[in-house]
Amino acid sequence: MSTEEQRRDQHRRRVQSELTPDVGPVDDEDETCSNCPEDAVYRVPWPYFGGDTAYCAYHLARYRALRLDIWRQLRDTGVPDPEDFATREERFVEFDDLPPKILGGEFRRIALDITGQGLYEQTQPDEDDHVAYVRVDRTLSEGDRIRVHRSGTGQFLGWFRETIGWHAVDDDVRWALQGGDCR
Ligand SMILES: [Zn+2]
Repeated sequence: MSTEEQRRDQHRRRVQSELTPDVGPVDDEDETCSNCPEDAVYRVPWPYFGGDTAYCAYHLARYRALRLDIWRQLRDTGVPDPEDFATREERFVEFDDLPPKILGGEFRRIALDITGQGLYEQTQPDEDDHVAYVRVDRTLSEGDRIRVHRSGTGQFLGWFRETIGWHAVDDDVRWALQGGDCR
């Protein structure tokens, strides 16, 4: 093999190894989940075999729910079992897991946030025209509560989307926010 052919061969092998997805447990303690600030525990094929991304235990559980076909293929490849790394703890995986109303029907679901908690909005404003928002996990025990003047709910939800982030949002809210963006 000539020097030129050797060089090309080396180049080809390097490109091939870069293109080969790296799946399995994450060894790097500093690597974070590509969806949230938590530590990554496992790399999975994304969006299909050929690429990969690192997820925390919760987002691995979400990936399992949303990509069951790839999950099954992954388990057949003989890598350390991703089932041992995926845990949803007390968090919601899909928007439909969220009860439409909670706290005696007083709050309605708005969004599944990036951390796996549900964001809920008080259906009726208080007498002083404020609306409360709460975040709950699967135990439905109330987390943070914040009160916003009725005129500022769109702004609050825009802030929430930008700062916390969500996986899914109620259709009416999405329409309202898009309408708000166009004004
Ligand atoms: Zn995550």
